[in-house]
Amino acid sequence: MPRSLDRHSVNTATLGYQMPIGETVDAIARAGFGGIAPWRREVEGGDVDVIARRIRDAGLRVSGYCRSTYIPGTSRAAWAANVDDNRRALRDAARLGAECFVLVVGGLPEGSRDMPGARRQVQDGVADLLAEATTLGVPLALEPLHPMYAADRACVNTIRQALDLCTLLDPARTSHLGIAIDVYHTWWDPELPEAITRAGREGRILAYHVNDWLVPTGDLLMDRGLPGEGVIDLESIGALVRDAGYRGLTEVEVFSHRVWKHPPDRILADCVASIVQGPPTYLQNVR
Ligand code: ZN
Repeated sequence: MPRSLDRHSVNTATLGYQMPIGETVDAIARAGFGGIAPWRREVEGGDVDVIARRIRDAGLRVSGYCRSTYIPGTSRAAWAANVDDNRRALRDAARLGAECFVLVVGGLPEGSRDMPGARRQVQDGVADLLAEATTLGVPLALEPLHPMYAADRACVNTIRQALDLCTLLDPARTSHLGIAIDVYHTWWDPELPEAITRAGREGRILAYHVNDWLVPTGDLLMDRGLPGEGVIDLESIGALVRDAGYRGLTEVEVFSHRVWKHPPDRILADCVASIVQGPPTYLQNVR
């Protein structure tokens, strides 16, 4: 087993939800990875403590728990229901021992054109959740998404914007609020080096997600590449993240109809190969 695989985790979406979570846990551990990032759809409705034990027994860390219900709503009551739903998920994140709860914050409420208003709702929602996260000891990881998702998935779109929100809501840097850096969403940003450096300096990097941008991209949501397949300079970005002080797991997160045509063990083998045979110094860079 290549020694550095244990510094990587697998986001279960990468495997296309083809197996029950218990089997997924075992397959990821068997492949040699050091962590897992499960999704709520695999956990909710099951016995969270049993799942948590299975993950622990397999020797895996939980690099993140995916993910928040979108925060903005069409009314104050809808907003409050969304925040409550996230509060419940945070409790599961704590039981799983997740190293962060991933916040994909949501975009415009249905029928709205009010982007500043959506962002205010996000700010208020994260402020509310931060109190719960602090009590539970599960950090909130704001994940900025590529601006092409601003309308329907996340109105937090750059690392700088996410960090500004962290500063506003958590000026004391309590370690309960930070960001998830996903190369798919951030690689294009002309301010990327400064933004990653700032994130490190402010102690905010809670997760690092890798995959690749394919040219052409056939589907804006479900056509990511495995690391090394596309145009993202994983070597340079990995070096920035390492130099910023991040020492957590590198999470492989690939949404791809192309990848999901294969059985999970084959996908895991492809992930291993893409990590091992990817850009030559990529692994050293993120260690
Ligand atoms: Zn991600």
